[in-house]
Amino acid sequence: MSLDYGTLLQSIGFSGASLAVAMFVVWLSAPIDRFLLTWTAGLILLVAFTMLYGSYVAVPHPTMLIVSLAVLVPAMALVWGAAVQFRDGRLPFGRISRAVVVGWVVSVGPMAAGWDGLALIFENTVAALFLIATARAYWKGRTMARVPIIGLTLLYGASGLAFALCAVVLAHDGRMVIGVAPRNWAEDLGMVVWIGAFTAIGAVSLSLNQWRRALHHRIDALTDALTGLLNRRALYELHDRRPLAPHTAVIAFDLDRFKTINDRFGHDIGDVVLCRFAETLRACLGSTATIARLGGEEFTAVLRETGAAAARAAAERVRATFAAQTIDIGSAVVQGTVSAGIAFTGDAPGVFQDQLRDADRALYVAKAKGRDRVVMPLAA
Ligand code: GH3
Ligand code: MG
Ligand code: MG
Repeated sequence: MSLDYGTLLQSIGFSGASLAVAMFVVWLSAPIDRFLLTWTAGLILLVAFTMLYGSYVAVPHPTMLIVSLAVLVPAMALVWGAAVQFRDGRLPFGRISRAVVVGWVVSVGPMAAGWDGLALIFENTVAALFLIATARAYWKGRTMARVPIIGLTLLYGASGLAFALCAVVLAHDGRMVIGVAPRNWAEDLGMVVWIGAFTAIGAVSLSLNQWRRALHHRIDALTDALTGLLNRRALYELHDRRPLAPHTAVIAFDLDRFKTINDRFGHDIGDVVLCRFAETLRACLGSTATIARLGGEEFTAVLRETGAAAARAAAERVRATFAAQTIDIGSAVVQGTVSAGIAFTGDAPGVFQDQLRDADRALYVAKAKGRDRVVMPLAA
């Protein structure tokens, strides 16, 4: 089948332009996803390249080739930069600038000397390297969402190989000066790959972004905004359906006379105390414990694969560490204490709600006995 080069270029230009619009609209709906803007900028330059190169195909004026090559380099660099920005959250501006300068020197340089064949070999190589670097940037972030990211890696990788193939065929041809836009099977194949890859890359990128947003919303819904601990919903979702394993401790913590701290020093200082207590929990209980803020000044910790004495010691550590802390607020020094109640499953599995209720009862006893203490019923 004979493929009309100009039409193929136009198709790429059109799909690139619609993709740029789609990306821009999605970015407007969530400006925090700045990589979409970088992507849009890269796509706009790619569309400009297809138009410029298209006019060189029609009328092979060397200036037009220089301009189109000069535009393709930053276009590819931005697509790569967007991938890094998607993964790391930061645009690698310095690396992009350096890569663009190198790309210009090796591709536009020979062209300025009249060697368009050599310039096109280098240009295709530069584009291939950018696309393979883009594939690599996504691949490195694959733990985020395996399937769509592997898809993007393959799509960018295939596009990169298509450009590399064009470079190889031109190099094999060995002509330093061509005078017109090269036409060979690798160019045609590259065009077809690009038309398919463009649309697929757009669709997968947008769905990946949606997936990531949904994940962020879900994390927000399960996180306590003040302390960053899990919230009540998260704690219940984790433990509601399945039984607690044997040798699991549920510890209920409640700050003592917290209302007085609020009344004396203000709500903001109360919030600082709550955050301090959350840090104390993290530091004393370690990363294996499930720690949640149930609401107000009430916290719960679930310790797995522990013993009754170890659970008691852990709660005691939290109590003592918190009681020893002073929070300097300039005009005064704030100190607080905490009471804790523990329920332990023992050798049999337990029901989370029952254990939490028992821990609350023990906590109530700790309050009644004078606060700033840990209570663990003997039956546990
Ligand atoms: P007890 O020793 O019996 O537990 O006394 P308490 O004062 O700690 O208990 P009480 O339940 O009477 O008061 C809890 C206070 O916690 C009342 C409420 O204003 C405060 N509180 C609840 N949520 C927050 C919050 O997010 N920030 C701050 N600063 N205070 C909060
Ligand atoms: Mg309370
Ligand atoms: Mg309290």
